[in-house]
Amino acid sequence: MGVYAVGEFLERAEKLMDAGDQVSLRYACLELRLSLEKIVYQKLAQLKDKIPPAVYRTWQPQKALKLLLSFEPRADQDNTIDIRQNNADGTPAGDWIHLGEYRMFSAKRLNTLYNKVGKYLHTPSLKEHDTLQPLTHAMISDVLEEIKRVAEATIVVSVNSINNVECKFCRHPVYVSKSQIDSGSIVECYNQKCEAKYAVKRVDNEQFEIRSHTLCTFVCKACGNESSLDLPEHGAIKQCVSCEQPHVFLMRCYEWKGEAGNEDQTA
Ligand SMILES: [Zn+2]
Ligand SMILES: [Zn+2]
Repeated sequence: MGVYAVGEFLERAEKLMDAGDQVSLRYACLELRLSLEKIVYQKLAQLKDKIPPAVYRTWQPQKALKLLLSFEPRADQDNTIDIRQNNADGTPAGDWIHLGEYRMFSAKRLNTLYNKVGKYLHTPSLKEHDTLQPLTHAMISDVLEEIKRVAEATIVVSVNSINNVECKFCRHPVYVSKSQIDSGSIVECYNQKCEAKYAVKRVDNEQFEIRSHTLCTFVCKACGNESSLDLPEHGAIKQCVSCEQPHVFLMRCYEWKGEAGNEDQTA
């Protein structure tokens, strides 16, 4: 069923929901969550020529959809895709041809649905045990219906050009889409050890530039290279992005205080 190929997951979920007992309903939650993941990851896979999958391989769907939205602000909105040929002078050369329907969860809805079914996929903590309601068909039927709606998409499209520039701290690529250049966005280095922020500015029709938008930086006492640093909490530990030397920070001065774990450095 459909371009996202989640038909089997949804069929199993429906059967389990119809069975109606607690164990079956929990397994239905698993099938529904797998469907949510499969749909978002398939959309994300369209970026693989531009952004290596290693960057987002371990991300949960909500974070993955946020990444998509940073590049394609309309990636979480349904669209009808039609095309038409034009003559060299820009005048229409034929009728519109219907290519298909693109569908996706809104970012907010995805978060709600993913967490709703996720609650039932682990043994509840003692605190949750008192408040967690027994599952019913009605409690998860909206999740099933929303996935079915999105799964009826007939096309998955990606309309964006993505450039990359080198992060000045870690040398990994920083990805910048056309829509981010147009809107002067703040972009982030996706190297999880770095996460430096940059402001994007269009220079002219062809070119753009990025400037560091990082709150603080620190120079590694071991290798001398600079790393980015968001405002750290007292006692925060941050590794050097080049040599991974850990550094401990104190709120009053953000100075390097020695290796993590040294008793006299963290007091
Ligand atoms: Zn970086
Ligand atoms: Zn270092």
